[in-house]
Amino acid sequence: MLRQWDNDHVWHPFTPMSAYREELAPIIEQGDGFDLIDVEGRRYLDGISSLWCNVHGHRVPEIDEAIRAQLDRVSHSTLLGLSSVPSIELARKLVEIVPPGLTRVFYSDSGATSVEVALKLAYQYQQQKPNPEPQRNRFVTVSGAYHGDTIGSVSLGSIALFHQVYGKLLFETMSVPSPVALRVPEGHTQESYLEYCFDELERTLRSHADEVAAVIVEPLVQGAAGILVHPPGYLRRVRELTQELGILLIADEVAVGFGRTGTMFACEQEQVVPDLMCVAKGITGGYLPLAATLATEEIYSAFLAPPAAGKTFFHGHTYTGNPLGCAAALASLQLFRDRDVLANIQRNAELLTRQLAVLKDHPQVAEVRQRGIMVGIELVRDRETLEPYPAEFRTGHQVTLAARERGLIIRPLGDVIVLMPAPAMPAALVQRLCDGAIESIEHVSGQLAAR
Ligand SMILES: *Cc1c(COP(=O)(O)O)cnc(C)c1O
Repeated sequence: MLRQWDNDHVWHPFTPMSAYREELAPIIEQGDGFDLIDVEGRRYLDGISSLWCNVHGHRVPEIDEAIRAQLDRVSHSTLLGLSSVPSIELARKLVEIVPPGLTRVFYSDSGATSVEVALKLAYQYQQQKPNPEPQRNRFVTVSGAYHGDTIGSVSLGSIALFHQVYGKLLFETMSVPSPVALRVPEGHTQESYLEYCFDELERTLRSHADEVAAVIVEPLVQGAAGILVHPPGYLRRVRELTQELGILLIADEVAVGFGRTGTMFACEQEQVVPDLMCVAKGITGGYLPLAATLATEEIYSAFLAPPAAGKTFFHGHTYTGNPLGCAAALASLQLFRDRDVLANIQRNAELLTRQLAVLKDHPQVAEVRQRGIMVGIELVRDRETLEPYPAEFRTGHQVTLAARERGLIIRPLGDVIVLMPAPAMPAALVQRLCDGAIESIEHVSGQLAAR
């Protein structure tokens, strides 16, 4: 019955619905630690942290209890002109752990909204800062960027498959090449291409220095583009140039925040303090929709003026700073400390590297990319020429289905197999995740070799 109703009524995100009907996707009924259990009682290891957000597992007693305790007080009240206890406590906690200088917290409810907030803040800031520069009205993005699915965040993104169809609806941005060197243009070596990317960044920013409001980057790892790992020094270079040229830096830590790259926030690894920072996915431990955009005192103070001056930030969502979400987030951050989750991430990162090393020479693996506990395994038809599989094979998706038969939930990005264990996952389960993924890749690539 549920299956029928699902097919009759639920329109699934990022899901080709014609194929979905045939595939009998698990209908999840329960979570248990790092497992998900479907209505037929089948158990799956959650290999992608329920789309990159789960941190400590499912049904974590401490987080469950924190939400229950908040339920006994109030589930929701507005932050528009009012305040609430957990939203204040969480703001204070966040300011303690983010890069120093980010002192103001604007809540919203998803990664996309946290990016919308950042881009509107940056734009408005340029118009009403002490020496206004309203001509700074453009944004610079990195090619292949993903910042969410609302029209503003889609404008900042550039994943053709997701974004092209909306072209005419979007505002224009300038883009710099993504500094990754698997497939380099004619005439470049891998090194010379990376050098070119650094130069292009500098050239673009310098030649438009007076028009750019902000640069937005996914620090260290471009997630949705296929877990693309930036070379050391790139983020640092973006910060140096933006600082020198009076351009704001927006760090979209939605995917990389809360430990994924090995430090609490990716910016820490290059000693970068952005002007605006977006966090979402992992903030509540993967329990509830909550996001935040952090800002410096400098940006915040440009919005301070008598109410009639019109400098207020006129933006907010009904569920902004939801108390249940904030309570979950506080409990999650407490567990980060109590259980030294960052140390677990370090151990698991090393384990992933060791376990996945066998794929390095696999004839259908172009590259195994990893930063911390974010992994992308790119499958190709031919490792030498990097010729991709034909799109109609849906190779990445086939691997997902093979993994499902092995009791493992994963979800690819095209033909990039993504492994995203929860930061607190025990080593034995990370090992199982690797074994299941490798087996599934071998199974599918073997089958396709026969085609
Ligand atoms: C997932 C993601 C978003 C969008 O977050 P939602 O909560 O899905 O809106 C934005 N930026 C990055 C880098 C992401 O990975």
